[in-house]
Amino acid sequence: MPIVRVAINIPVDTLFDYQTVDATPDDIGLRVSVPFGKKKVVGIIIAISDTTRINTGKLKPVCSIYRETKPLPASLLELFRFCSEYYHHPLGMVILNSLPAAMRCNKAIQIKKTASNLSFELTPAGKQIDRSVIPARNRVARRLFSAFLESAALTETQIKQISPRANQWLPEWLHRGWIAAKQAPADTSATVTGSIPILTAEQAAAVNAITAGLQQFNIWLLYGITGSGKTEVYLRTIESVLAQGKQTLVLIPEINLTPQLEKIFRSRFAATPIVSLHSGLNDSERLSGWMQAQSGAAKIILGTRLAVFTPLPDLGLIIVDEEQDSSFKQQDGLRYSARDMAIFRARQHAVTVILGSATPSLESYYNALNGRYHTLRLQSRAVRNAGLPSIHLIDTRIHKMQDGLTEPLINAIGRCLIEKNQSLIFINRRGYAPVLLCKSCGWSAACQRCSSRLVVHLRDKQLSCHHCGHQESFPRACPHCGNQDLAPFGQGTQRVEDALTSNFPAARILRIDRDSTRRKNAWHDMLQAIHGHQIDILIGTQLLSKGHDFPNLALVGIVSADNSLYSTDFRASERLFTQLMQVAGRAGRAQIAGTVLIQTEFPNHPLYQALQHHDYDGLAQILLSERKAAGFPPYVFQALLRGEAHDLNPVLNFLHQAIKLAKPPEAVELFDPVPAQMHRLKGLERAQLLIQSTSRKQLQAFLTEWCAQIHALTNHKVRWTLDVDPLEF
Ligand code: ADP
Ligand code: ZN
Ligand code: ZN
Repeated sequence: MPIVRVAINIPVDTLFDYQTVDATPDDIGLRVSVPFGKKKVVGIIIAISDTTRINTGKLKPVCSIYRETKPLPASLLELFRFCSEYYHHPLGMVILNSLPAAMRCNKAIQIKKTASNLSFELTPAGKQIDRSVIPARNRVARRLFSAFLESAALTETQIKQISPRANQWLPEWLHRGWIAAKQAPADTSATVTGSIPILTAEQAAAVNAITAGLQQFNIWLLYGITGSGKTEVYLRTIESVLAQGKQTLVLIPEINLTPQLEKIFRSRFAATPIVSLHSGLNDSERLSGWMQAQSGAAKIILGTRLAVFTPLPDLGLIIVDEEQDSSFKQQDGLRYSARDMAIFRARQHAVTVILGSATPSLESYYNALNGRYHTLRLQSRAVRNAGLPSIHLIDTRIHKMQDGLTEPLINAIGRCLIEKNQSLIFINRRGYAPVLLCKSCGWSAACQRCSSRLVVHLRDKQLSCHHCGHQESFPRACPHCGNQDLAPFGQGTQRVEDALTSNFPAARILRIDRDSTRRKNAWHDMLQAIHGHQIDILIGTQLLSKGHDFPNLALVGIVSADNSLYSTDFRASERLFTQLMQVAGRAGRAQIAGTVLIQTEFPNHPLYQALQHHDYDGLAQILLSERKAAGFPPYVFQALLRGEAHDLNPVLNFLHQAIKLAKPPEAVELFDPVPAQMHRLKGLERAQLLIQSTSRKQLQAFLTEWCAQIHALTNHKVRWTLDVDPLEF
């Protein structure tokens, strides 16, 4: 009787054996329901064998094998195994956490037919209706009705785009006879909307180089300044891949960027099935996209980091856009890097991977320098006459700030308004949110559960913790000394907004931050307002820096970024430069010459000097030599053993015990346990231990052995994880 080896979603790195009557090797990769303890759980069949170490009398039978979906392909199982070994995370957890939610349930999957082809249109009676019969408070209904008035018919997808809740009005309107449903013809039109640009010489060279070696494993670093047209290079390369009938996986850092890119892809490849996979989808949408990828029907798969684990039978190309972005690294559970997994996958399938960036991560930059990656450079902007923005520094020791703004910056915004151009004021949030401070005793409002200060939200008179979400109202007086004159300290987005409003009362100002984009579709509406030139001044944080094209933007003001210059995190400079370069790159992308003004106390700092001269190479050289001297990545490989518990002492004890167990080879170095930078988070104390080596292989061999020993250390008070190639400390 055959025995199946099953991976289960539990934190133990072992496979479990079960007996079955009818399994064949073709079942490897299928979901299976098995008894586990008192429960039945879902697992994945990893192997079929006729031997087992378990006493066959004790072997339990499987409950059922789910055969309604295709098995996970062998290559994907191999990727999971690599991922499990590299990050020292149990295989069952790696696999099950990467699957769509529906596949994690111990149930057969109801495979729905793809979305219905229904579309809706106004009936002649509906056309007679005056919009004002819909109460103004039903904003979505009014928007939907206007959309009906403007178009012949709307598909379900289009209706959902108006608002995810828009379809709730359909039954009532159908019932009233305002609208009628009809079967929409399948969209098979191969027409390309929008014109296809003629490639610049640099773009053409890049496309030629990449397509010449498409069917082998190659890593290209597409190193192109913002606005150099990297997207067009992707599009042309994908065209070649489509011509071979193969699939392209496009990984992007932000869910906010998917709609924009999806639109570009859909209009260029109108006849090509495209799916997007990101955390904004509901379970059935995600499952449907995932299955279309697995069947090979979807040819372009656009997604955020988890999409790297999608089964792709005809994989022909992988693109990682903004490869330096830290969101490709998961920061909890399985702490994988989607970029690094993408590279593994490309090697596995012998296909090309393109890493695109204007400011490559120093790891990739170093790999390009030493020849492991091929480099392609795009050094000029793709749109004719769109120059690079000119960058100027405003010395805040000379020009004093008021509410975060200096006079030269205010004057520049004023000129921009007169010329009817848009300006963007960028606030680097990291360590810069306003806190509540008592000026008489120095007390500041802090979170009880985290080692962080509470952030002031002036509008609703609330203090909130941006780490754990805790909220409280403003204290009436300082709890420490009784002083009643508590004032917010630091420039939050809201304060800058108030200052701008009082300087420019007639200007249309839009603030974009986590608070203002929380509402669903808020982001979409804001982008439309910006593009429609209904906004004069934008105020924003990190959210705004990435990927968006704002054609009317003439001025970018960077209010304060100095905090990051002297951070204890050795990656802070690299990140700051990337971020400022990205924001600066928003200006002057079309016909308008862009200006960037940076307020700083340190105008001579090498980072600002490099920025002013658009010289990432110069900065990268400086940073690399600093990293080499200090023994930091990319010159060494790191791992972090993280522990957390209600008190710090057990965590430190646990880490010390772990050190005692370790027998590192000479090339592997263990440091002393230290409290984490954010040492208290959500009520837990956290500490960590750094492990470092110049040899990745020796580090890995050591970690494998050591991890098994740490597992044997039964310490129920301390939760621990291993973070390989950590980005945050
Ligand atoms: P990047 O991603 O490198 O920052 P984009 O791909 O966003 O740059 O391109 C910037 C702008 O240049 C876009 O508006 C794009 O449509 C335009 N563009 C790209 N390639 C060309 C070209 N060859 N000719 C004219 N315009 C182009
Ligand atoms: Zn006080
Ligand atoms: Zn907190």
